This record gives sequence, C-alpha cells and structure tokens, in this order.
Amino acid sequence: MRMISSYTSRLTIGSRHEGLQMTTPEATIAEVRTDVRRFLAEELAAASFRPTCDSWIQGHSVAFSRKLGDRGWLGMTWPQRYGGGGHSARERFTVIEELLAAGAPVAAHWIADRQTGPLLLRAGTEQQKRTFLPAIARGRLFIAAGMSEPDSGSDLASVRTRAVPTATGWRVSGRKVWTSHAHRSHYLLALVRTAAPDGDRHAGLSQMLIKLDSPGVAVRPIEVMTGESHFTEVTLDDVDVPNGMVVGRVGDGWRGVMSELAHERSGPERYLSTFPLLAELVSGGTVDGETALADIGSATARLWALRSLSLRVQDLLERGSPTDTAAALVKDLGTRLEGDIINITRRASQRGPGRADHGALPGLLRAAQLAAPSFTLRGGTNEILRGLVARGLGARDA
Ligand SMILES: Cc1cc2nc3c(=O)[nH]c(=O)nc-3n(C[C@H](O)[C@H](O)[C@H](O)COP(=O)(O)OP(=O)(O)OC[C@H]3O[C@@H](n4cnc5c(N)ncnc54)[C@H](O)[C@@H]3O)c2cc1C
Repeated sequence: MRMISSYTSRLTIGSRHEGLQMTTPEATIAEVRTDVRRFLAEELAAASFRPTCDSWIQGHSVAFSRKLGDRGWLGMTWPQRYGGGGHSARERFTVIEELLAAGAPVAAHWIADRQTGPLLLRAGTEQQKRTFLPAIARGRLFIAAGMSEPDSGSDLASVRTRAVPTATGWRVSGRKVWTSHAHRSHYLLALVRTAAPDGDRHAGLSQMLIKLDSPGVAVRPIEVMTGESHFTEVTLDDVDVPNGMVVGRVGDGWRGVMSELAHERSGPERYLSTFPLLAELVSGGTVDGETALADIGSATARLWALRSLSLRVQDLLERGSPTDTAAALVKDLGTRLEGDIINITRRASQRGPGRADHGALPGLLRAAQLAAPSFTLRGGTNEILRGLVARGLGARDA
C-alpha cells in the first residue's frame, strides 16, 4: 500500500500551460501565478480570510474584493479606457483559478466581474461603460443577477416582472428570487418583460440596471442550511428606473441573458468549488489505500480534463464564437465532480463534517457538504444543461 504523500505532498492547480489557442507567453502566466500565490500567502499569514469551499458564493468580503481591484485583478481583460487591465483571458483565468483553489472570498465582485462587465462591454452604451466598468474593476461596485423568479427559473422566458415606459424611463414591478448577494450589492441587472411575447416567447424581454436603494425596492435575505444568507428575494414595487439603464436594445434581453449564461457556466468556479477540500485531503499526507488513491487520481484527471475544456470555452468567448454547448458541458460535468470530491474525501479520510474550529478538513467538509445541493441547480440545473448539450449535438430538435 502506498501513501499519497509518496506521490505528492501538495495538490496545486494549473502548473502546466496547455497552449490551446492562447497566445499569452508561458512566462507571463507563470509570473501572474506567482504574484497571486504570493498575495494569497500574505493574506493568509495576516489572517485576512479563512479558506472555504464554494468561496465564490459563500466568501463575501468587500475589503478583499477592493484589494483585488487595487491590484488590477478585476476587469482584467477589459480595455484600459474603461478601467480594465487590457490583459488576456488566459491571465484572468490564471488569477481566478488561483483565488478559487485557495478558497479566497471573492463573492462580492464575482457576478459584476464575471458576467455584467462583459455584457456591458458587448451591448452597453458608451455612457454605461464609462459609468459602471471602472467602478467594477476597482472592486467598488457590486451587481446582482436578477433572472430567476418564484415561478420562473429553468424557463426564464416566462419571467413576469414587467417594465412599462414612463416620461423619464421605466416603471418596474415584480419579484425576483434566489438573487445572490442583492442585499450587499449596489445594482440589480434585472430581466424584465417590456412587451408582450406576440408568438415568440423570447421577444419583448429587456435587461435593465436597477439601483437597489431606489424607492419601491425591498430586499429580503433568505437563510440557507449553512445559517448564512447569501441569496435574497427582491420585490420591485413600482420602481422608477431612469432612461439610460436598459442594457442592449429594448426587447433584446434574451440575447443578453444567453451571453451572460455562457460566462456564468463555463469558468473554473464550476469545477473548483470543492477543490480546497481535495487539496487539504492530499496535503494532510495521511491518505492510505489503493481505493482512496485511485479515487483521488481519478478526480485529479477529471479536474484536468475540465480545466482544458474550460480554457477552450474562455478562448471561444474571447473570439465571440458560440459556446452554449461547451459551456453547458463544463457546468454539468464540473458540478458533478464537485459533489464527487465530497464523497471521495469522506471515504478517504474516514471523517465526517465538523465545525471550522475542529480543524481545516472537517471545516472544509462541512462547508462543501452544506453547499453541495446548490451545485447542480444554480446557473441552470443539470437536467436543463443536458437538454442544451443534446440540442447542440443534434440529438434533439427543440
Ligand atoms: C446558490 C444559488 C444561487 C443562485 N443565484 C441566483 C442569482 O444570483 N440570480 C438568479 O437569477 N438566480 C439565481 N439562482 C437560481 C437558479 O438559477 C435557479 O434555481 C435555477 O435556474 C433553477 O430554477 P428553479 O429553482 O426555479 O427550478 P425549476 O425550474 O422549478 O426546476 C425544478 C426541477 O425541475 C427540473 N426541470 C425544470 N424544467 C425542466 C425541463 N424542461 N426538463 C427537465 N427538467 C426540468 C429542474 O431540473 C429541477 O430539477 C441561484 C440558485 C442557487 C441554488
């Protein structure tokens, strides 16, 4: 029987560059990775955060997000004239995989940096780009995603929140639910119906930025199993939204949402939510037995394959190519792996979850176990994603 420590004492992510379609020199990637690891080591030494699983949803720290903004690690790929860094998608990928692998608290800025910013860049007005992007890139402006409603999650085209035109903009009424961190964000990017579907369910939808401290907005945090409240219910009661806040063309909201979802489904957060747990299991050096070693080896191989697929999708996104099927595949396969890592750890360590003060492994196991039911739901359920993949492969018509 061999101990895992005889293979490696530390599991890290991304020590080799695949060189897919990425043009960023290997040395630049290595430099970025070293910088982020140094920063994380300093932050850990200063106890500025405690590593956790699912840190892109559970780890909310305004101070930490600001530090990332100050270092130029938000809005990394955006043009410098909008406060971005002008870096490659590959450099951004490196930064975020290191942050996630370390379980760092990145939730505050996550949605604005991952999907709202790219949407604004693609479809926003010049005024919107100049107003919102620099503040997001500095970690000073947080935006929540207002797609789901009480009767409209998988079937987003059925949203019932309505916006009617007024002399100065729009008046919005409706209810959004499962809105991550709306109680800690400045704006909600809401999918609303601005016109009747008229035969095409995807027509007549629009996306608009709604200031969350506007009169008529009520945000109610929803408590989850962890005892925390990271998502909310947002009620919009005749909320006046001024002109200039619709992102993209009025009536073209479906396209905007689809482009957001491609960013939302394909990144490393879809397979790294429980990576800190696997890394802790390996670094403990006490895993024994062929079965446990085989499980860890298999999980690592799956991680590596998913990473390659995710890198490919980032590359396609950067070129503006279609990614729906591949992004759905990353999320479906990735979230299943995230769950499997929990079971592998339980079996290999012979431990159950415990509180954070019971030690690193029980604390991480607890965080992972409690968050796990959400992995295959958020961002589109696995059933829906498999339907998308089937359609993308030509195995299904509609
Ligand atoms: C942690 C977390 C964070 C979230 N954050 C946000 C957020 O910030 N913003 C936001 O807008 N939403 C957010 N959501 C909501 C999430 O996107 C929805 O929960 C998800 O899209 C599913 O919608 P639903 O909950 O209404 O389930 P439903 O659509 O009611 O689905 C219920 C079940 O039926 C199945 N089902 C439904 N339709 C079909 C079909 N056509 N074929 C096969 N099976 C089907 C589903 O797979 C699921 O198992 C979050 C959810 C979670 C868990």
